Amino acid sequence: MKHGQLGWICFACLGAGAVLPVILAGTRPVPILSSAAAVEPATQKATQRTVPPDDGKLRIICFGAHPDDCEIQAGGVAALWSAKGHHVKFVSVTNGDIGHWRDAGGPLARRRTAEVERAAQILGNATEVLDIHDGELLPTLENRRTITRLIREWKADIVMSHRPNDYHPDHRYTGILVQDSAYMVAVPFFCPDTPPLKSNPVFLFYPDRFQKPNPFQPDIAVAIDKVIDKKLDALDVLESQFFEGGAEGSADLMKQPDRRRTVRTGFATRNQSTAKRFRAKLADWYGKDPADKVQYAEAFEICEYGRRPTKEEMGRLFPFFGD
Ligand SMILES: [Zn+2]
Repeated sequence: MKHGQLGWICFACLGAGAVLPVILAGTRPVPILSSAAAVEPATQKATQRTVPPDDGKLRIICFGAHPDDCEIQAGGVAALWSAKGHHVKFVSVTNGDIGHWRDAGGPLARRRTAEVERAAQILGNATEVLDIHDGELLPTLENRRTITRLIREWKADIVMSHRPNDYHPDHRYTGILVQDSAYMVAVPFFCPDTPPLKSNPVFLFYPDRFQKPNPFQPDIAVAIDKVIDKKLDALDVLESQFFEGGAEGSADLMKQPDRRRTVRTGFATRNQSTAKRFRAKLADWYGKDPADKVQYAEAFEICEYGRRPTKEEMGRLFPFFGD
């Protein structure tokens, strides 16, 4: 994937692999990059590990491998949920510290954390960046515990992640780790330091185009026309990844005329493609005529290891279809 095409993979993941400074290596059990000392005061609010009150609203936690994946895959639904007062949290499982052609290490991780914090303020979600090196995520027991604790702390009704078959190892292992936390989140004596959930949440996968061993099969598609500008605004502030091109960017790329508009148009087109690709699934949820009018969409597949919701329950979890 060449930069500028804005396809279905995240720019953070492209072309990385150089030996880079190791500045943010964390040894704590649940490391967080975005501590008060690491970020500007204005950006602290979204990253504080406060848990929302038990107010009857929905609770959604989305995992992405890098600080841009959740925004790309679920920025629209996050804005829709947030607008209705539901509680959405994005977690980047790595700190993104090799996702740039010029910068790396701690300064890049801090910059990318600040970027997703700005995006979170636009979309209305909480956000957290784990201090695990980009490109080095492994499906370890300790990382499974970290993911399990995060899901429990958020008391999630819905958990989202990549599928475990994906081109990027960080994406794959994020999928594995989240999948391995399904069911375990409700087992009391796994991670007994964090109260277990009373029931297994609904786990959902983001779309991709990989065919082997099995292609993405959407179970739900959501129109995001009402929030597409907000989503594009949120992606616009992830400048290191899109305006500057991430790991495969260059100084020349940044000088392209209308570079910012090119990025914005690329993401708009991508969400239009999702609507076209999953038009039949949109029709299942909205009816044929309304579905035909949808321009921008996001889609998700139910993971078999989470709770298997009925269509009625999915309608309650995605309370957008009567809007
Ligand atoms: Zn990624």
